[in-house]
Amino acid sequence: MSFTDVFHRLDWGDLNLQIHEKKSADVQRALRARKRNLQDFMALISPAAEPFLESMAQESFRLTRQRFGKTIQLYIPLYLSNQCHNICTYCGFSLDNHIRRITLSQEQIHREAQAIRMMGFEHVLLLTGEAPGSVGMPYFRKALPLLKGYFAHISMEVQPLDQLDYEELINLGMDAVMIYQETYHQSAYAHYHLRGNKQDFFYRLETADRLGRAGVKKIGLGSLIGLENWRTDLFYTAAHLDYLQRNYWKTRYSISFPRLRPCEGEQQPRSLMNDQQLVQLICAWRLFAPEVELSLSTRESPSFRNHVVNLGITSMSAASSTQPGGYADSKQQALEQFAIDDNRSAAKVAAMIKDNNLEVVWKDHELRAHLA
Ligand code: SF4
Repeated sequence: MSFTDVFHRLDWGDLNLQIHEKKSADVQRALRARKRNLQDFMALISPAAEPFLESMAQESFRLTRQRFGKTIQLYIPLYLSNQCHNICTYCGFSLDNHIRRITLSQEQIHREAQAIRMMGFEHVLLLTGEAPGSVGMPYFRKALPLLKGYFAHISMEVQPLDQLDYEELINLGMDAVMIYQETYHQSAYAHYHLRGNKQDFFYRLETADRLGRAGVKKIGLGSLIGLENWRTDLFYTAAHLDYLQRNYWKTRYSISFPRLRPCEGEQQPRSLMNDQQLVQLICAWRLFAPEVELSLSTRESPSFRNHVVNLGITSMSAASSTQPGGYADSKQQALEQFAIDDNRSAAKVAAMIKDNNLEVVWKDHELRAHLA
């Protein structure tokens, strides 16, 4: 049994129709429900829910404070490499983009880690492109113990791996893995992924199952908003979460909602989502899954992040550089995966969070202490 079995029972066109046929009464029923199911989530992300945004925001605020207290966790991405053997039409690291490629040496990783610790971060998200020869398990076996000396919590967003590899990485100190399907539209997925291992839709789809079986503490899910109809993609993501929570109930989950950003190569969004719709989505997630962490990256603008910090979000990245080596050497150029929008320092983002009467959590286990 894996999520593939659930996936084959779902039909994209049928779901898209169902979402757009939801009525005000369905939204009101979802708002009144004590525990919300996938049909409720569908109503809350539908166009019919747009007039109910204020009620959704109030309930999202209440549930978030009840479950997470007055906290926002801060983390920072650390790009270890921009080498990639894949062609993905929406990504600056794509093989067909002629950018300078770099994989950090152990000495460079030390320098990046020191620069990040100086900013106050204890939670780091490690990222690489998909180049198994240069950033595969042998590389991770050296990098993780090194980084464990600097950080209390390590998440990874790298190529999908086998269950045994995940078990080994957990023993080396990995706490969480982010794995985004990008789009659950199978034929469109083939259109965006033109070369390399990422073309294997089902190996990627089953990654969270392998992680669950390996016993990882936390799995992050999401879709790249803008590739295909965002409402349908997000419904699939919710079905994926629902399946995982039933089958790997000891694991915690987080959800991200990256919107397609400008990058080298310039894939234009096919499904636009405005700011109000992103607020609707954040609130819908909180109402559907009150216990799940909701994460917002620096892809979003400072004003948007300021606005939603109290509406359901529980973790944020800050001071991000998407260039390998970009923290120790800020002059690095022309290597980035995508353009970030919120360029504020960690101190400024922390100050914004405090101004909203919230406490900054730098370590993941501090957040769990709050939740205990
Ligand atoms: S999205 Fe990932 S796999 Fe695709 S080109 Fe970018 S780094 Fe490589």
